[in-house]
Amino acid sequence: MITKSKFVKVKCEDCGNEQNVFNKPSTNVRCIVCGKTLVECKGGLGEFKSKIIAELE
Ligand SMILES: [Zn+2]
Repeated sequence: MITKSKFVKVKCEDCGNEQNVFNKPSTNVRCIVCGKTLVECKGGLGEFKSKIIAELE
């Protein structure tokens, strides 16, 4: 469980694109390749709809 705000790398399950995203997004984050929602804005920590493959400092 991620509690601190940070960037993480996620992999889109639909197209395999890897993308760095903020874990507390102010809007929904979409895959830049296929448009799938990767992280849903929940007002605090985002709800990840994609697989987290790395946490970035
Ligand atoms: Zn995608």
